[in-house]
Amino acid sequence: MIDLHLHTTWSDGVSEVADIIREAVDFGLEAIAITDHDNTGSYALAVDAAKDTPLEVIPGIEINTVWEEYHQEVHVLGYYIDPYETNLQQVIETHRKNRFAQIEIFAEKLKEKGIDITYEDILAQSRAEGSLGRPHIARALIATGKVATISDAFNQYLTRNCDTYVKRKTVSPHEAVEAIYESGGIPVIAHPGEMQQIEQLVEELLNYGLRGLEAYHKSHRSAIIEYHCTLAERYNLLVTGGTDYHGEAAGYKKALGRLCIPSYVLPKLKAERDSRGMASFKVS
Ligand code: AMP
Ligand code: ZN
Ligand code: FE
Ligand code: FE
Repeated sequence: MIDLHLHTTWSDGVSEVADIIREAVDFGLEAIAITDHDNTGSYALAVDAAKDTPLEVIPGIEINTVWEEYHQEVHVLGYYIDPYETNLQQVIETHRKNRFAQIEIFAEKLKEKGIDITYEDILAQSRAEGSLGRPHIARALIATGKVATISDAFNQYLTRNCDTYVKRKTVSPHEAVEAIYESGGIPVIAHPGEMQQIEQLVEELLNYGLRGLEAYHKSHRSAIIEYHCTLAERYNLLVTGGTDYHGEAAGYKKALGRLCIPSYVLPKLKAERDSRGMASFKVS
């Protein structure tokens, strides 16, 4: 059993890295990938926490992008990346600055609406080295008592159709796929079931190094899984899967590892890594 899509406090998850590793080991998983949004800071900690266990920690990331042509968010997963590679770190650094800038304007707009919230209140919901995101605003809004749930916060203040919404400067899915590929990693489209124009996107991204589709995802029904497995086969892409676990307090109670992912997924992912001549690198 594996789980290739997990978030920690290094982005918008609520579980610490060591807790994720302990849960994965207790549940008997063979391998996991921590795929924090635009951040690889947890990798060294995860390797350290897993060192005396049978659990394999695959270096991973989830890069949040926007496909401007269709005003659509596309999340790109990267597996067996080199988390310290310069180009990838530059993309991460760009996202980091853009996230701070976006959230600072969000705070100003919320203040204009009469909500008693500051940029510092939002920063306090996130760890300093981690990726700041809208879920951290949602938690700060809950703390003010203005909203009851994360979902209410998104619906009332944080999604594209809200007048408090602030767009974030970001990279294209093409750039994210290329950065992952160039860092020696395997780029995969995350939760493709949420996407429109998926076939066009796949065809475009193949030219930048796309290697897989996350057909198995907690939000995908059987028909969606089957569709994306068929699509992957047509384009000779890998199939991957994960729960997109954000921790128990985020409403994903006991989700880690609780997803049936076929046993061929991990060997094929490793075969792809090996065929690219990628050597496992050492944590510095
Ligand atoms: P950001 O990184 O600021 O773009 O926020 C994106 C993250 O917010 C996603 O990865 C989800 O974890 C979360 N999210 C997005 N939309 C919603 C929603 N409607 N309700 C709850 N969480 C959401
Ligand atoms: Zn998230
Ligand atoms: Fe995602
Ligand atoms: Fe995710």
